[in-house]
Amino acid sequence: MPTIVDLTSGAVERERRDDEPGHYDGTILGLRLMTERTPPGLDPYDPRALLFVAAGRLGGVRAPGLAKAVFLAKSPLTGVAGEAHALGPFAAGMRAAGVRALAVTGRAARLSYLLVENGEVSVRDAEELRGLGTAATTDALRARHGRDASVAAIGPAGENLVRYASVVTDLAHPAARYGIGAVFGAKNLKALVCAGDAEAPVADPGALADVAAFYREALPGNRLAAWQHGEPGFAGWTGEPPAPGYVAVRNFSVTAAAGLRAPQEGGYAGRAGTLRGACPGCPNDCLKVYAPPSAPERRSGGLGQEAFPSLGWNLGIDDLDTVLAANALCNDLGLDPVSLGGTLAFAMECAGRGLLPGGPAFGAAAALPGLVADVAHRTGELGDLLAGGAARAAAALGPEAARYAMTVKGAELPCFDPRVQPGLGLGYALAPGGPRYDALEHDLDFDPVEGLTYCFPEAARIGAEPAPAGRLDAERGTRTARLLRLWSALDALNVCLFASSPTRPLTLDRLTGLAAAVLGREFPVAELLAAGQERLDAMRAYAAREGLAGREELPARLHEEPVAEGPYQGAVLEREAFAEARAAFHAELRW
Ligand code: SF4
Repeated sequence: MPTIVDLTSGAVERERRDDEPGHYDGTILGLRLMTERTPPGLDPYDPRALLFVAAGRLGGVRAPGLAKAVFLAKSPLTGVAGEAHALGPFAAGMRAAGVRALAVTGRAARLSYLLVENGEVSVRDAEELRGLGTAATTDALRARHGRDASVAAIGPAGENLVRYASVVTDLAHPAARYGIGAVFGAKNLKALVCAGDAEAPVADPGALADVAAFYREALPGNRLAAWQHGEPGFAGWTGEPPAPGYVAVRNFSVTAAAGLRAPQEGGYAGRAGTLRGACPGCPNDCLKVYAPPSAPERRSGGLGQEAFPSLGWNLGIDDLDTVLAANALCNDLGLDPVSLGGTLAFAMECAGRGLLPGGPAFGAAAALPGLVADVAHRTGELGDLLAGGAARAAAALGPEAARYAMTVKGAELPCFDPRVQPGLGLGYALAPGGPRYDALEHDLDFDPVEGLTYCFPEAARIGAEPAPAGRLDAERGTRTARLLRLWSALDALNVCLFASSPTRPLTLDRLTGLAAAVLGREFPVAELLAAGQERLDAMRAYAAREGLAGREELPARLHEEPVAEGPYQGAVLEREAFAEARAAFHAELRW
């Protein structure tokens, strides 16, 4: 039963949809509401646009893998349905405040925030929070509503309608991608505050406790889960630099040894903030906060796996403190580190090629904090230009610049290079919501030599058989579609990908057991996969409705510039093979 708030009138309604099957009060419901309640062709900043925030029926339950909230709206970056997820305590905060799903329409006359308490929603004035970072906003709202209140806030970037502004939950955990923070800003919505201590209902607590006990026991023996649990964790890149071609370096232009360092494990000493307990009920403790002692707001340093490549190597920067500080600043100002990194990398390459005179240079570590702030505040011509993202900046700079915008559907690519993992590239190009590094499990995990052999039987259950990571053919297209469908299901149900099948402890049987324990009914694997298919279909149908179907091409560089040396030397996405794989992908999803 979604609660729907109209910020223009202040009206709050509840729509009874409990009997409607297949939406789980998550993304699928949000997509249905967007389709039903908004006309086609609406500007994402139009007051009539619909913003959807949900924990769903499973999210926010205190159990392994359920600490996930979804934020959904028509993306100002892509023009299609943009979905971002916040892992951490916010989903539990929504459930504690008595809501599973919230839709917001209209535009408040003054900067405002929404307070959710005991299932009731009210609109409150937030003018005095204007211009504050997400941390100061969270502090101010917790001072009003209790230190245990969960807060999702935007910073100056969202207020200034930067097209890749994020929403930051509980200081450190962003719903980063696709500009949902700018949609908040367009609605004059500074924050969403959830206060309360209600328990999310669980039909079979005993069965849930069994899953939790299993997970705790399995964690140390699962290679990825153990890596996530340890320090600095899976977002803390350490050791040798990745092999050439594995991640983007200098806007994907360098695929030979780049001469850039990786952080050493000891480099994180003295930088740790909160390392444990971010996700209520999940013992994996993946979400860790790191920031250098000199960072102005260290609590904002929630470190995602993409931060170091996006704000470091892809900009020709390898200094750990520079990257950690830039990441914390991004979260405090409310910017997506991936799109910001991709946009800055584009600007740096254009500047180097004489297409953006006076633009920033690769490796300009000292300039990075100023660049982050200029984008968030749209300061000067450069800040304003880059606030629209790389694709729009390229359109403004002229046709020669277009080649260097590493985007799909207008959104910047994640930094894992698809020349080495072509299934990831298919996911970037074909996922109807835009490119994400976590849309599907990575190809290397299923490589017969380098892969995680323990997960091969589990992956085979959905028809994803092992294959050499670099191979691009029809079978790759089919496998990619099957893996995408599985993780789409987890997104649809507000289940954490980093806890789940095929590589982590929550296998298909554990996932369906978890859902059954919470919902109190059988939950077959077929229903799980059907949810994944429906989410993808609904996102695709929304794109078609907006006249934005297709746009399934990757930047030319990935087809034309092979990896130059190292173990992946020669890797490139042959156009013919890519087309063959794309056709097989479409066939598998019946598109
Ligand atoms: S697996 Fe990690 S990110 Fe996912 S819910 Fe558990 S602790 Fe959070």
